[in-house]
Amino acid sequence: MTKGFTTSVVGSFPRPRELVEAVEGHAKGKVSREKLDSLIRDATASTIRGEVDAGLDVITDGEQRRSSFVSFVGDKIPGFKVMHITALNPKAMEILKKNKVQLTYTRAVVTEPLRESEIALDEYRAAKKLASRPFKVTLPAPYLVMWESWHKSMSKEAYPTPEDFGHAYAKLLRLEVVRLRDAGVSFVQLDEPMLGDLTEAGEKPDRYRKVLNELYGHRYRGFREELKLAVGLLNEVTKGIGGVRIGVHMDRWPNKDSPYFNIGYERFLPDLLETKTDQFVLEYTSQGTGDPWALIKSFPGKLEIGLGVVSVQDYEVETPEEVVARAKKVAGRIEPERIWLNPDCGFAPGMFRSFPREIAFAKLKSMTKAAEVLREEFA
Ligand SMILES: [Zn+2]
Repeated sequence: MTKGFTTSVVGSFPRPRELVEAVEGHAKGKVSREKLDSLIRDATASTIRGEVDAGLDVITDGEQRRSSFVSFVGDKIPGFKVMHITALNPKAMEILKKNKVQLTYTRAVVTEPLRESEIALDEYRAAKKLASRPFKVTLPAPYLVMWESWHKSMSKEAYPTPEDFGHAYAKLLRLEVVRLRDAGVSFVQLDEPMLGDLTEAGEKPDRYRKVLNELYGHRYRGFREELKLAVGLLNEVTKGIGGVRIGVHMDRWPNKDSPYFNIGYERFLPDLLETKTDQFVLEYTSQGTGDPWALIKSFPGKLEIGLGVVSVQDYEVETPEEVVARAKKVAGRIEPERIWLNPDCGFAPGMFRSFPREIAFAKLKSMTKAAEVLREEFA
């Protein structure tokens, strides 16, 4: 893979309707575990087939087994309790609506000290039998999980502070990254949307931290302190691990009313570059995300960009020319090997997010065509 403009995905794909219905049916005791498992296997196989057909260089299993990209850790690691968002705060729905924030209703809250456990290794073992391409495996990063899972009263006994919990989770995550590397995963991506959302914070927290404060009682520390904490926790996971490409994915949901509209992750400089990672996987297609070059021009040495070049919001399929135009904000300015192309985000970070699967695959095809054009011109 020295040709440059390597194509990949951020992680999740929409689940087939049958699978989503079976998950609900299983929760009500109407669908057997065996039936559900067989639908999960089918959905994983068809997702992987779609990715291979689209011509992607590095693929995922589409996270078909996960309830959501973050709360699934509650199903895997002992110490979490999975609950409905209204159990955190009876007014949860009003709080979300008032702040125009969407969160998965299923929440994994830490209630006991965590115990070591495999997190995604089973998924990878099942997936790698289905294709001989390099695989990416995604894991929720510690700063995200700290904000999403530590609750002022429910978690206090196990971990007196959110930071105590963040460090403990980082320690377990590190062990999983090593297991995944040893099993042959070629790319481990740590998902850090909470850090991405910090682009909208300043003296006051952004809307996500504001909502999580109301739901969990977790206090905002201020912009620089939050950033330092996020980077520090990432480094507890990744520092010194070699032999596998590690990426950090951040979301960016520009808010037109925010003073930071049209400003990107460059707000995190220089602290962000302290992160021990091989690649930043970043969103750049929505309006108001800012110019990727404003950040990437500061990238040192071998640091790679996973550039978001197709939208996961918009149902309109981008043409290869449109994708090429987006990539050209960076192409020609750093080595082609350091530029990866991917959609902005997962197509369905939560089980219930609907996005037409055929549109998702058509977008990937446009992206792989664009990569060929870019290789002709720059590689
Ligand atoms: Zn994302």
